[in-house]
Amino acid sequence: MTFHVLTIFPAFFSGMLDHGVLGRGIRTGRVTVKIHDLRDWTSDRHKTVDDRVFGGGEGMLLKPEPVFAAVESIFPARDETKKVVLMSAQGRLFTQRDARRLVQSKEILLICGRYEGVDERVAEHLIDEELSVGDVVLSGGELPAALMMDAVGRLVPGVLGNEASTVQESFAETVEGVTLLDCPQYTRPAVFRGWAVPDVLLGGNHAEIRQWRHRAAREKTARNRPDLLRPDRNKEEVRT
Ligand code: SAH
Repeated sequence: MTFHVLTIFPAFFSGMLDHGVLGRGIRTGRVTVKIHDLRDWTSDRHKTVDDRVFGGGEGMLLKPEPVFAAVESIFPARDETKKVVLMSAQGRLFTQRDARRLVQSKEILLICGRYEGVDERVAEHLIDEELSVGDVVLSGGELPAALMMDAVGRLVPGVLGNEASTVQESFAETVEGVTLLDCPQYTRPAVFRGWAVPDVLLGGNHAEIRQWRHRAAREKTARNRPDLLRPDRNKEEVRT
């Protein structure tokens, strides 16, 4: 699958793409990342990408013209296999469910905002979805785009060494349709500074280990993310 990133800071992504799981996906040809400089689609001498906000107020906004021109030239024809996503604090929250859905696309174009954001006509008339990576305000869409490429890219078949690891991890859905966090996990030493690993994990009883992991995952989810266990949660997500 191919990710396109539209940014005014193309250098932001150098380095990041050489490492880890996403780096391996790129080296093995399963994932392609193309970084596009928004300034290439400006027409004035100063390569202006921003302008003041109508109505007054602080700061600058990314102008619509270069963003529209860029998207229309990167995707001259739009269809179901191509998705255009705007990184935005005002977007719907990006979750593992979105990662699983987006990995079905052939090409995804991620638009990175900067300054006070992007002229709203981009959200209204150009993109397929407006997504946020959390209830926080960042200074640009580059980190969110990197986050999304990592989350989606690792789900591309063959990118992770072990596909099974995406079945049993946080936010994977259980048979009952609930979403849980991953269970706590331990490695050697079995006793560290007097803190011992739960006995059951040291024995070889796989049925007991499975049960323990399920219970521990539920407990940890209830403690850190009670919202995931709310009975109406899944219904809500299906509607959106
Ligand atoms: N004025 C905007 C924030 C702009 S931050 C507001 O209050 O909503 C500048 C850019 O950073 C945004 O255009 C967006 O591309 C990116 N950004 C900031 N926070 C983000 C988040 N939580 N998720 C995704 N992108 C975000």
